[in-house]
Amino acid sequence: MTDKIKVGIIGYGNLGRGAERAISQQPDMELVAVFSRRGTVQTFDQHVKSVHIDEAKNFQDKIDVMILCGGSATDLPEQTPQFAAMFNTVDSFDTHANIPEYYESVDQVAQASGKTSVISVGWDPGLFSINRVMSEAVLIDGNTYTFWGKGLSQGHSDAVRRVEGVKAGVQYTIPSEEAMDRVRAGENPELSTSEKHKRECFIVLEEGANAEQVAETIKTMPNYFADYDTAVHFITEEELDRDHTAMPHGGFVIHSGKTGAGNDQIVEFSLKLDSNPEFTASVLVAYARAAYRLHQEGQKGAKTVYDIGPGYIHPASPAELRKNFL
Ligand code: NDP
Repeated sequence: MTDKIKVGIIGYGNLGRGAERAISQQPDMELVAVFSRRGTVQTFDQHVKSVHIDEAKNFQDKIDVMILCGGSATDLPEQTPQFAAMFNTVDSFDTHANIPEYYESVDQVAQASGKTSVISVGWDPGLFSINRVMSEAVLIDGNTYTFWGKGLSQGHSDAVRRVEGVKAGVQYTIPSEEAMDRVRAGENPELSTSEKHKRECFIVLEEGANAEQVAETIKTMPNYFADYDTAVHFITEEELDRDHTAMPHGGFVIHSGKTGAGNDQIVEFSLKLDSNPEFTASVLVAYARAAYRLHQEGQKGAKTVYDIGPGYIHPASPAELRKNFL
């Protein structure tokens, strides 16, 4: 048995907790320590070392790959370049519009340090990105559609909670069945984001609040709900705690294209996730293996899922993969 890949986790939120659990499922990895700005955190496994983030620099000869689990808005743009100077890294940066700029900032540091940094891994960006490009390449005459959900949206849930009269609440984004059926039928329709998705809110009212007024305020909220088909349901606090504390998500990438004689070809990839962070963390952990292997081969700099063959993320050897999965 070769030595296990030594892994560290930076940031212990939803993703960090998911990463701890995912690493414990891997035959070829061991978790060396969890690093947090809050110092010591309560990990699932009491034997896992929990260390203040400032101490991470002392682990350069003890850790092969750092899994960065900070938030995309402010943590990762700062933390990834900082840690790519010292470690191979993998992260889930998901602000799509800023990925090119983010890539450059990480690549510059990782090229100089000689480390390998796999950026923007997860399901979107990540597995969905791979499926979009694969379909676009094979069916050059066609269109790719991405539908998200059913899933809990953090930003929209925050928005409904700010409405006067709302005590608590959550919002789900739901893909429109009608829109998906049109795509699957090969219609190649032009669809706006609001035509592709519906919104559903589950609200606990404050005592004495006017339900009709709250529903109206939510449904007409500009940017968030006004352009969408939005349903508002009122529930009790007990129902909210019982039915709406999980973080489900998922979605569909559908490509509709034509080949040679005008034949319709439909390609579809979908995810139905009970836990968004646990799944995202599982993708991060698989790509941590790739970061390690690429670095062993002498590759350096920033990489995305487009640069990495799928064999790199699986624990089995290339020979075993050819035998079992090809
Ligand atoms: P969290 O808000 O749970 O955690 C982010 C950071 O906040 C943690 O690393 C942690 O850093 C800090 N933190 C967590 N809990 C607390 C607390 N109780 N008090 C103070 N600080 C805390 O975010 P998630 O883990 O849910 O998501 C991280 C990012 O993952 C998201 O921003 C999103 O962009 C990305 N993502 C990407 C996906 C993809 O498909 N590519 C899918 C899903 C998410 P520290 O320990 O240092 O305090």
